[in-house]
Amino acid sequence: MYKKINLPSFLLFFLILSSNSYAEEYKNEKLHVDIIMEADHILTMNSSNTILKNSAIAIDGGLILDIDNIKNINAKYQTDNRISGKHKIALPGLINGHSHAAMTLLRGIADDRSLIDWLNNYIFPLEQQFVNADFVRIGTELACWEMIRGGTTTFVDMYFYPDVISKVVTKCGLRGLISSTISDNQTPNAQNAEDAINGGEEYINRWAQKTPTITPILGPHAIYSLNLAQLKETRRIAALTDTPISIHLSESEYELQYSKQTYGMTSIEALDSIDFFNGRTIAAHVVWPTKKEIAILAERNVGVIHNPTSNMKLASGIAPIADMLDAGILIGLGTDGAASNNDLDMWEEMRLAALLQKVTQMNPEVLPATTVLRMATTNGANIIGLGEKIGKLEIGMDADIIQVAFDDVHHQPNYDIPSHLVYVTDEQDVVTVIVNGKLLMHEGQFFTLDTKKISEEVAAMATKIANSIK
Ligand SMILES: [Zn+2]
Repeated sequence: MYKKINLPSFLLFFLILSSNSYAEEYKNEKLHVDIIMEADHILTMNSSNTILKNSAIAIDGGLILDIDNIKNINAKYQTDNRISGKHKIALPGLINGHSHAAMTLLRGIADDRSLIDWLNNYIFPLEQQFVNADFVRIGTELACWEMIRGGTTTFVDMYFYPDVISKVVTKCGLRGLISSTISDNQTPNAQNAEDAINGGEEYINRWAQKTPTITPILGPHAIYSLNLAQLKETRRIAALTDTPISIHLSESEYELQYSKQTYGMTSIEALDSIDFFNGRTIAAHVVWPTKKEIAILAERNVGVIHNPTSNMKLASGIAPIADMLDAGILIGLGTDGAASNNDLDMWEEMRLAALLQKVTQMNPEVLPATTVLRMATTNGANIIGLGEKIGKLEIGMDADIIQVAFDDVHHQPNYDIPSHLVYVTDEQDVVTVIVNGKLLMHEGQFFTLDTKKISEEVAAMATKIANSIK
């Protein structure tokens, strides 16, 4: 905005006529913007993988207003919030495509067990006992803190009490695609599938268009926790409300056997038989697809979220990411819940995604660093339907931007920025997080969270949970 000049117009006219220097100054007045972020390098993640040197981003009204070299930005804009860029890399905020945020409160509680044993004998009973609106609020706050700390700016969540999750996410300033877990089991906020589906639809209607950073979605849990008629009903509602669906798909060998025994087909085939993929689908895991199923996913434009840590920890298997990429499937990355990871660190997911495919394929050329960075940024954005707004740094995009410090010992020397970001960087290197043009974290200071209060509430809740399993 130009500075307002409160002078009668005749006087202003006189002043302009009489003072060359004033006219010069007026002409040169710079546009005032919310934030100017500088960076030694800006990794745009645009289609040409452009990396800009000694550049800056002008951020205003939640958007990226301009990107140019520092000299030009300083000639055009002024700000009260300038973020220094010395030894810093700016890049798009990371997109965590699959999580159960509030499960941070169950971090490390029942490690080293099989998926089904872990779910049926530990996680589901604990959730039945403890999960209520308060549990979800505290767990989601802890997760948002951790995600902001590590440079995640958008996440896709599936859990209970979605209104509580959405309120927490709105307050902490992150961007979220939030769903209520829909299952035919009794859950903390539903009696059965019908109840859960109704609850999911009502939540979508409450939150659609409510705030620019929350997208309510549907979260049918999996093919083994809902029957095909119920799954078909979730797609009907998704179509009706123009909503994406997030689902666990082909995660374990158990799911494969279950689907074959129940439907005489593998799970992706069974879902395709009811036109489940007829609409935006965010499929978490996809560890056990057949060749035929990979072709179905490619044909139906299903986005796959790879969760390497969770798949390794639960020994679910190794998702054939390289084969799915070859088939043209969009692949994003996720952490899954902190109970099966056990953190929400997207840098670790990038690193493990690359390493796991290389050693499985016995081919060091698969999943190069830039491909993995795309999975955590542009691909994730396209899968969740926000590719026009986030995932890359271009003029007009929403300002979801992070800065990573590159001056610590493990980043020296620096020959190749994408390589460092994938193979070296960790959460602690993130110094600035901006979402929708709002500064959420800078140099260890959190502007939207009361971290002391969160720690106290987490400790109190953890004591209750620990006492119950003694
Ligand atoms: Zn999951």
